[in-house]
Amino acid sequence: MSASAVQSAAANVCDAVVVGAGFAGLYQVHRLQQAGYRVRAFEKGSDVGGTWYWNRYPGARCDIESICYSYSFDEALQREWRWPQRYAEQPDILRYLQHVAERFDLRQHFAFNTAIESAHYDETSQRWLVRTSTGETISTQFFIMATGCLSKPLEPKFKGLESFTGEQYQTSRWPHAGVDFTGKRVGIIGTGSSSIQSTPIIAKQAAQLMVFQRTPQFAIPAWNRELTDEEMRTAQESYAELRRLMRQSEVGIDYESPTIGAKEADAESLQKQLEYAWNRGGYLMLAAYPDLLTDLESNKIVSDWVKEKIRARIKDPEVARKLMPEYPLGAKRLCVDTNYFETFNRDNVTLVDLRESGIDGFTAQGIRLENGTEYALDAVIFATGFDAMTGALLSVDIRGKGGLTLREKWQNGTRNYLGVSVAGFPNFFTITGPGSPSVLYNMTASIEQNVDFVSNTIDHLRDHHYASIEAQPREELAWTKYVDWISKQTIYTKVKSWYNGENVNGKPAGFMPYAGGGLTYFEFVRQAVDEGYRGFTLAS
Ligand code: NAP
Repeated sequence: MSASAVQSAAANVCDAVVVGAGFAGLYQVHRLQQAGYRVRAFEKGSDVGGTWYWNRYPGARCDIESICYSYSFDEALQREWRWPQRYAEQPDILRYLQHVAERFDLRQHFAFNTAIESAHYDETSQRWLVRTSTGETISTQFFIMATGCLSKPLEPKFKGLESFTGEQYQTSRWPHAGVDFTGKRVGIIGTGSSSIQSTPIIAKQAAQLMVFQRTPQFAIPAWNRELTDEEMRTAQESYAELRRLMRQSEVGIDYESPTIGAKEADAESLQKQLEYAWNRGGYLMLAAYPDLLTDLESNKIVSDWVKEKIRARIKDPEVARKLMPEYPLGAKRLCVDTNYFETFNRDNVTLVDLRESGIDGFTAQGIRLENGTEYALDAVIFATGFDAMTGALLSVDIRGKGGLTLREKWQNGTRNYLGVSVAGFPNFFTITGPGSPSVLYNMTASIEQNVDFVSNTIDHLRDHHYASIEAQPREELAWTKYVDWISKQTIYTKVKSWYNGENVNGKPAGFMPYAGGGLTYFEFVRQAVDEGYRGFTLAS
């Protein structure tokens, strides 16, 4: 064998393959390489960033306050980084992740512009054989999907789309150079977070904007603003305490909430508390009362109050009626907005209510509704969402013991243990898998805790000379049933949403994230570890 062949063969044998270069993948690679493992990492995009690499649409920003939306693992990193705004915008979050990649020299471990096509477990060698889109095959002991929850966009499927002669964009695959809509007639399909963030900005640029709405959404003002030097300095100096408080909460952010439910509050205190929550803004509205996500009666009190606030933002009562959500506040992912509802007061913005007549399809000139109405467009934007939580995992041909594919295993719904491990798939980990709190928790904080779990587990195997770990089928079933049961104690299951897979045709319905709270979840994980990895089989 030549020297270069030996070298390339060595590169193709490693301890861990990590997929994804977002918050999860970067930290996972950092932890493993710090501990001395040979790591290969792969990313479809041309650089680091994950969600924040792809979602570059105008107005994209996080819905968790910046000072909580960052890594806590390195004191110097959190002390040196300055967030300019209360809610960081996409370019700032991307800059932050680029800074992390540089600071910890992480890019050297990644192959960019490279997708993972398959990962097959070989029972004889107890290793995964991972194949990439560039034709490489890698043999690895551990296979870690750090691919995020909202990374597989739904491809737009509309009759006649191929005949449309205008420009087409997708919020989740926005051109890096940006788009100039000046003077154009633009249509945006969808009214989830991506549309709610981009609509006000595009409306200011376009000649006309048509918003095609199938389901009206709740959005709470972000009250975004610049962070002062003083605020940032205070945060930097007290990060240790802030992180402690974040980890004590069920959602991974620091907030206060009253101890009584909304339905127990008297009229005066209710009004005061709701105004307070509204003025805190954004996601914190859901912290107005502790029972909003579990008690429909309490939720209705607050939903009705919020609807009045929304109504007051819209001048035309008929437009306001069409924009009014009809489901419990928070049951679909709550949107955080800046001037979304006010945008419909502009003369150049039209709300098209698809409940009156749905989209029939595209013509060469634009969109035609089922009732024959046509909207001429120079450009269309698809803000139509993602195959959430499982999309990215199932887009890789993952096969465990006996050649069973993950897709076959999950054909009737997701099954795993603690959201991280799947029975029959040894040494395979998901960082933000279904069955973990992920999107119902501060993502950055849930990622860090699960990366720590995975990294500590790999260390444990190494230190105790085990070759593999996998979930036990009985514990997996128990966890899966528990995740389902706990979701039914909440209002999340009262409406169709991407949380329960009902936005994707043919996807098995079932609430995917763990809804019992992050604090509770991480306690389950800790206990399982403390009891010698209860529920897992460790094999030599
Ligand atoms: P989304 O919430 O799933 O919204 C998709 C929208 O497209 C919905 O209004 C949906 O209507 C509509 N839609 C889908 N197919 C359609 C069709 N064939 N015809 C008409 N309308 C159609 O997707 P998203 O806005 O990209 O947000 C997804 C998640 O990403 C968010 O919930 C959030 O967790 C995350 N996100 C976060 C931020 C942030 O603030 N950091 C920003 C953007 C996204 P229906 O509701 O009727 O299905």
